[in-house]
Amino acid sequence: MVEQLPAPVGAGVYNVYTGEPAGTAVPTAAQLGLEPPRYCAECGRRMVVQVRPDGWWAKCARHGRVDSHELEVQR
Ligand SMILES: [Zn+2]
Repeated sequence: MVEQLPAPVGAGVYNVYTGEPAGTAVPTAAQLGLEPPRYCAECGRRMVVQVRPDGWWAKCARHGRVDSHELEVQR
């Protein structure tokens, strides 16, 4: 099963938590529901992250903003 995640969290080029080359370590929507990403998965830039009581959003200057609501995390 392939999950459709927006590029800043699902591209799989960089680890969204460390900013290092990710290999195949693409986080699942469930993981992202627990811990917001810090780096863009597509370009490795540090993202602006805002955590809310009900989720988070993260913004890459090049690839746009991702909102946790868009990931349709199953709780
Ligand atoms: Zn990016």
